[in-house]
Amino acid sequence: MSILARIKSFLGMEAKPDKDASKEEVEKVAEEKAKPRIGYIHLSGCTGDGMSLTENYDILAPLLTDMIDIVYGQTLVDLWEMPEMDIALVEGSCCLQDEHSLHELKEVREKAGLVVAFGSCAATGCFTRYSRGGQQAQPNHESFVPIADLVKVDLAIPGCPPSPEIIAKTVVAAINGDMDYLAPMMDLAGYTEACGCDLQTKVVNQALCIGCGTCAMACQTRALSMTNGRPELNENRCIKCGICYTQCPRSWWPADRIKQDLGL
Ligand code: SF4
Ligand code: SF4
Repeated sequence: MSILARIKSFLGMEAKPDKDASKEEVEKVAEEKAKPRIGYIHLSGCTGDGMSLTENYDILAPLLTDMIDIVYGQTLVDLWEMPEMDIALVEGSCCLQDEHSLHELKEVREKAGLVVAFGSCAATGCFTRYSRGGQQAQPNHESFVPIADLVKVDLAIPGCPPSPEIIAKTVVAAINGDMDYLAPMMDLAGYTEACGCDLQTKVVNQALCIGCGTCAMACQTRALSMTNGRPELNENRCIKCGICYTQCPRSWWPADRIKQDLGL
């Protein structure tokens, strides 16, 4: 099922004969719909993404009381059995040697309308990409992958952690069926092989870099610096979170359209 179909299904629009419902119709149905059930699933993550959700201080109370119901989450809800959910925020990558995580991820996909890779570990693997095993008490736990390698992911919110604002806005956009806002998140669901080197290969080498420095400012490990107006990567510092590339104002630029307009 496409992401748009999932959101329409979530909003109760699947029975409508008009499959191309207008934005106004989606918003109207969203207003009338009961509060969405949100689950927070914690795989191989550090809980930083969940912490960032709770740091929506100014809107957290109305978000939790008026807009959504948190129905599942080991650190938030005292419930062992996973219920049906509208949106599942999955934090952390998935360890291929951990059967419990594999089963939990499969169950999330079966029980959630929208599966969101919540934070860079879930979206790109982030620093768990460097896991090699050999540590007590589970020395065989050595292979960690982004969740999209194992199940269909509808949206990704990279970040280590993502900002509180983008978490809240993404949830609200999913509730309202705001496809314009969600479009980059949908694209990012396929961006699992993140690296600071993406700036060189996908932006600078494509003649798209404008030297704005956003990538270097966004990098939380200072793996990037600006040299002669272009980003330079210190690979030893890169944790493969993907934030530099997703924050770059030229990363999701419509290159084909630019070439077409320039007659290239
Ligand atoms: S954010 Fe993008 S456009 Fe700006 S300096 Fe970095 S690579 Fe160039
Ligand atoms: S360069 Fe920095 S922001 Fe980019 S992927 Fe590496 S750690 Fe993340």
